[in-house]
Amino acid sequence: MKLAINGGEKLRTAPFPAYNTIGVEEEEAALRVLRSGKLSTYLGTWHADFYGGPEVRALEAEWCEYFGVKHAISVNSATSGLYAAVGACGISPGDEIIVSAYTMSASATAALVYGAIPIFADIEEEYYCLDPRSIESKITPRTRAIIIVDIFGQPYDRDAVNAIAKKHNLYVIEDAAQAPGAMLGDKYAGTLGDIGVYSLNYHKHIHTGEGGIIVTDDDTLAEKLRLIRNHAEAVLSAKGITDKNDLINMVGFNYRMTEIEAAIAREQLKKLPALLEERLENTAYLNEKLSQIPCIKPTKIREGTKHAFYVHPLQFDAERAGMHRNSFIDAVKAELPPTLLREESTVLLSYGYVKPLYLQPLYQERIAFGKDGYPFNLSNVTYPKGLCPITEEMHFNRLVTHEFMRPGMTKNDMDDVVKAFEKVWENRSELLCD
Ligand SMILES: *Cc1c(COP(=O)(O)O)cnc(C)c1O
Repeated sequence: MKLAINGGEKLRTAPFPAYNTIGVEEEEAALRVLRSGKLSTYLGTWHADFYGGPEVRALEAEWCEYFGVKHAISVNSATSGLYAAVGACGISPGDEIIVSAYTMSASATAALVYGAIPIFADIEEEYYCLDPRSIESKITPRTRAIIIVDIFGQPYDRDAVNAIAKKHNLYVIEDAAQAPGAMLGDKYAGTLGDIGVYSLNYHKHIHTGEGGIIVTDDDTLAEKLRLIRNHAEAVLSAKGITDKNDLINMVGFNYRMTEIEAAIAREQLKKLPALLEERLENTAYLNEKLSQIPCIKPTKIREGTKHAFYVHPLQFDAERAGMHRNSFIDAVKAELPPTLLREESTVLLSYGYVKPLYLQPLYQERIAFGKDGYPFNLSNVTYPKGLCPITEEMHFNRLVTHEFMRPGMTKNDMDDVVKAFEKVWENRSELLCD
């Protein structure tokens, strides 16, 4: 059977079903707000509305309840949430923050915004989260925090990482953008460090188009986060804040979420458990079938954790396949159709995930703010290729990710995905002879 990449017939052309979590519940919630005429009620002055309107506050209370956490602070994106988290921790220019290079760029940019230097540590070979041993090897007297990502929905190694943080007096900021509903024991991902951040952007498990939620059990951090969200500097004197220590990083932004987004998010949160269960069932089905293909290694889940599978990572064995990962996966992609609502991403299968962040021009040229390279000019740190060998190996050679487990995919749809992999495996000699 000729492979589609070589001009043969595609295994399937009918698009895969959309992942669309928005229904009448969200429609009614948005209408309720529109009809009220109050699309936001935030005030950037010291007033009851400094903390937002009724939908924003209800969402925050419901988020606290669901995730078992003392404070939930809604923001307009997880990126804003990460920035506010670094600010609330009192990070100063020239401080160092340890972060993964294998994540969405904002996880590291959050350090730069406060003049701190991202220090990239390497990841675990099986779970792709920061490796505690690598974290420890990167600690210096300037280290102040670890931004740890529950990458792909896998909770990080809390016990080991938090012990290191405690020993060296570091904050742990957990980027749980990809892991809403994931768990370690009886605790939710996002609540495992000092501050956690979730995303509600439209790629994520549940969404409001754009949005984010910050969580913490610490009253002082929570209040700083709320100040940074809403023009901190404008309310400090009315609030009676004059202590020098309390003024650190109290420069505010407008990170506020609108009432419509909050009303939609409240409905989305109710749908999270069912959406997650379907995703986990689909992933288990695909993991079982795809790992029958000799060059595909099944995914491991960290002991004692529940994974949230934002994407489903797999590893590719080039030796078994007799070719590089990219050739094989390009051939599988050629067999498959796009997914509705995500037509722009063609086929929801890719290799490598993001390029290790330190290979971006920002880090290679050490220029962020201004022409003198602030904040890199406060540090001698450099970002050579080879800095994080496991991250590079995953990106360039081994990692495969897909999103064919998203709710809405039927068994038939998933079987087509498996058949495409099988077709390429069985006809792989076609890929070798050119
Ligand atoms: C999506 C994502 C973010 C950013 O989320 P936004 O809400 O789009 O700002 C941050 N970190 C990770 C790991 C993400 O996947």
